Amino acid sequence: MTPSATTTPAWFDLTPDQRAILGPLREFLRSEVAPGAIQRDRDGAFPHDIVARLGAMGVFGLQVPEKYGGAALDTVTAALVIEEIAAVDGSLALTVASHNSLCTGHLLQAADERQRQAWLPALATAERLGAWCLTEPGAGSDAASLTTRAEQRGQRFVIDGSKVFITQGTVAGTYVVVARTDPPREGAARSDGISAFVVDGDSPGLLRGTPEKKLGLHASDTTPLTFEGLEVPSENLLGERGAGFHDVVAVLSGGRIGIGAMGIGLGRAALETAARYAQERRQFGRAIVRHQAIAFKIAEMATELEAARLLVRKAAVLRDLGRDYVMAASMAKLKGSVAGVNACDAAIQILGGYGYVEDYEVERMWRDARLTRIGEGTDEIQHVLIAREYLRSLAR
Ligand SMILES: Cc1cc2nc3c(=O)[nH]c(=O)nc-3n(C[C@H](O)[C@H](O)[C@H](O)COP(=O)(O)OP(=O)(O)OC[C@H]3O[C@@H](n4cnc5c(N)ncnc54)[C@H](O)[C@@H]3O)c2cc1C
Repeated sequence: MTPSATTTPAWFDLTPDQRAILGPLREFLRSEVAPGAIQRDRDGAFPHDIVARLGAMGVFGLQVPEKYGGAALDTVTAALVIEEIAAVDGSLALTVASHNSLCTGHLLQAADERQRQAWLPALATAERLGAWCLTEPGAGSDAASLTTRAEQRGQRFVIDGSKVFITQGTVAGTYVVVARTDPPREGAARSDGISAFVVDGDSPGLLRGTPEKKLGLHASDTTPLTFEGLEVPSENLLGERGAGFHDVVAVLSGGRIGIGAMGIGLGRAALETAARYAQERRQFGRAIVRHQAIAFKIAEMATELEAARLLVRKAAVLRDLGRDYVMAASMAKLKGSVAGVNACDAAIQILGGYGYVEDYEVERMWRDARLTRIGEGTDEIQHVLIAREYLRSLAR
C-alpha cells in the first residue's frame, strides 16, 4: 500500500481554520498586549480593556457552543490559543485559561439547558468573568477534604466557608462554588456529598478578601473569598446533588491541558528570546551560541518543549474524540509545566546578568511559569494520577 502521507495532513499541522484564528490573535497580542506586559507586571494591574477586546474576539468563550455566543473551538485549537497568549503575557494566559476551563468549563460539564442559557452568554463574551472556587485553607491537593458547607433551606442553599487562591476572585461576576451539601453515604468515598453551585458575584454574603502578592502572574487576580450566609437559589445547583466531585475531577482534567499549553507558551517565548540573544551576544571573540554549552541548552529547551507540545496535542485530540484523556492530560500538564519552567530558567542562564533584570522579560516568564507546576494539581499530584492510571491500564 502507498503511504497516505501526501493526502493526510500531519496531525500536528495547523488547519486553515486554526491559522485564521491564530493569525489575528498573534497580531493583537504583538501590537496591543506585548507592549504593556512589563508595566502591568510592575503595577499588578488587571487588564480590563484587553480582556474586553479579547472577549469580542471570542477568546473568553473558546469552547462554548455558538448558540450561547461562544467560539465553539475544539480542545486542540483552544490549547493553541492559550499557548499563543502565554508566549506574550502569562498573567493574561492564566486569566483566559481559568475562565474558560474552570468556571465556564464546569458549566459546560454540569449545567442543564436552563442554566446554560442563563449563565454562558455573558461568560462567552467576557461581559462577566468567571471564577472557580475549590481550594480552601485546609484543602488543597486533598480537595475532597473541603469544609465549606451548603445547607438547604426551602428553595435555597445557604453557603458558609472560605476559599483561597481564587483566580478572578475579585474581578469575576460569576462564581462556581464547590461545597459539601451532605455527609458521605456509608461505604462511599469521602468526595461523596460534595456539590457545586453557580453564584452571582453580586450576592450578599460573598466577601472578597485582599488580592495575594505573588511571585509572578502579577496582572492575574488571585484572591481569598469568604462565604457568610451566602444564599443561592436551589436552581443554581450544578449537576446532581452530592455527586459534584465527579464534575470537579473532569473539569480539572480538561483544565490541565490548558495549563500545559500555558507552560509551553512561556517556555517558547523564553527560548526565542534566548536564541536571538545568543546569536548577538559575543564573548571570547564569538557569538555565545558558538560555545557548545549554550547551543546545547537551546537544543534541550527546543526538544523538551516540542515533546511537551505533542503531549498537549495528544491529550487535546483524545478529549475532542470523546476518549479517556485523564492520564494524557496529567502527562501534558506535568511535561508542559516542567519544560516551560526549565526553558525559562535556561534562558535566564543564557542571558547572564541581563536575564536577571526585567528588560528582556525572561525573569518574568520564569516567575509566571512557576505557577504551572502548582495550580490545577501540583507536579506531585500529576505523578500520583499518572501512576494510578498507568497501573489501571496494565490491569485492563
Ligand atoms: C496563582 C494561583 C492561582 C490559583 N487559582 C485557583 C483557582 O482559581 N481556584 C482554585 O480552587 N484553586 C486555585 N489555586 C489553588 C491551587 O490549585 C492549589 O494551590 C494547588 O492545588 C495545591 O494546593 P496547596 O497550595 O494547598 O498545596 P498542598 O496540597 O498543601 O501541597 C503542598 C505540597 O505537598 C505536596 N503533596 C500534597 N499531597 C501530596 C501527595 N498525596 N503526594 C505527594 N505530595 C503531595 C504537593 O505536591 C505540594 O508540593 C491557585 C493557586 C495559585 C498559587
